[in-house]
Amino acid sequence: MQPKNLPSAWQRIFDSVFLPALFLCCAFLCPVHAQVSSRPDADPRILKIINAISEDRLRFIDEKLVSFGTRHTLSSTNSSSRGIGAARQWIFDEFKQMNPKLQVSFDTYNLAAQSRIVREVELRNVMALLPGKNARRIYVSGHYDSLNLGAGGQIASNAKPSAQPADSDPQLRPNQNFDVDAPGANDDGSGVALTMELARVLSESGIEFDATLVFVCWAGEEQGLFGSRAHVQKIAAQGIPVEANFNSDIIGNSHGGNGSIDAESVRVYSDGPEDSMSRSLARYVQNVAAIYVPGHRIRLMARQDRFSRGSDHSSFSQRGYPAIVFREAKENFANQHSAKDTLDGVDFHYLLQTVKVNAAAVAALAMAPSAPKVRDAANKPMIGRQPTGYNASLRWNPVPGAAAYRIYWRDTWSNEWQHQQQVGNVTEFIFPNLCIDDFVFGVAALDNEGHESLISAYVATPRPSEEVKLLK
Ligand SMILES: [Zn+2]
Repeated sequence: MQPKNLPSAWQRIFDSVFLPALFLCCAFLCPVHAQVSSRPDADPRILKIINAISEDRLRFIDEKLVSFGTRHTLSSTNSSSRGIGAARQWIFDEFKQMNPKLQVSFDTYNLAAQSRIVREVELRNVMALLPGKNARRIYVSGHYDSLNLGAGGQIASNAKPSAQPADSDPQLRPNQNFDVDAPGANDDGSGVALTMELARVLSESGIEFDATLVFVCWAGEEQGLFGSRAHVQKIAAQGIPVEANFNSDIIGNSHGGNGSIDAESVRVYSDGPEDSMSRSLARYVQNVAAIYVPGHRIRLMARQDRFSRGSDHSSFSQRGYPAIVFREAKENFANQHSAKDTLDGVDFHYLLQTVKVNAAAVAALAMAPSAPKVRDAANKPMIGRQPTGYNASLRWNPVPGAAAYRIYWRDTWSNEWQHQQQVGNVTEFIFPNLCIDDFVFGVAALDNEGHESLISAYVATPRPSEEVKLLK
């Protein structure tokens, strides 16, 4: 018989050496699991998608994009290894190698010469569509074209006064060489890496989403959003419903050019007015991120974009489609639009966090029903004071697939929804003696598993000014 103290001695050694070693191994080998959300409202299917995202894949995609030397929209298309022609073919082939459910195509436009498109060009967006149960679309996008403005890059443009003659535009200088190196690792290799990695993990998730997901890598962004504008012009004419555009442009750098560092937050810009569906989408992303990627703070920016800068989300929001753009927390302007926008300026672990946020928010929104329409045929918000004249009476149009609705309200001067109430599968609800003038109201649709849509807010339509008739 062994001495009684032997097992306990072994136990002590095991406890003091092996368990911590085991824990450390797990912590190093399974960093993803260490970060997994523990919130009870987290959907395990979304957690699985997030865990499938690969930092190595993001790096691989960006390295490959940079390897094409330049991806300038007007660069050569003759080579299979350099220029925008080689880059778009590689993106196309990469999408093709993903899940066969993805419908991969070139979205091609023959552009006439105009503004910074200084000659006729065949422009191709690269698109991968994952059909959902419903035709309404959620777009995930970044632009694969790149730009080198020469010495100083974007910082030279920043230094100039904003009102400058058109002929000082560096993209309109005569005899430009569009084949010089423009690596675009961060602008916007980072956004393309996000778009392509989301196409992979969402198409491989095995989930049949309610919404149709469209992953697009745009061209012509640097000359004036030509690829996205042409595409949105086309789908608007076709009447294709668009639920959201998640656009990412310059999202991979955590070190600002002024020495500041922030690897724990990302900015999300959205066009107003304050209760636009773009702002609703931005709030949605913030809420989802708090559940699934709590260490990555979403800083909502109540403006369309940074001063004098733009991106492809505006092609959507300007036509009334909800759209947001993700922007890294701290920018290095000297690297942008220059030969210095190289891979060493991309922090792939930081980029990974924003990719996770996008994956969670896109998946959550794609599983949910569409947002309720809260305007009538005459475009008036369906809110009133009936039946007593002192109530908050809300109506909305029924949403296919909705099992319930959630009503939100807040003080008119507040930015955050302060109150909520879930109601059944109804299309009208009355709050007795709640004054509609003192609160903003909104409503979201829920499916039978609780997946929630964007919130549609009741916003008054501005009254047009009418000419006063005066006696002559
Ligand atoms: Zn860009």
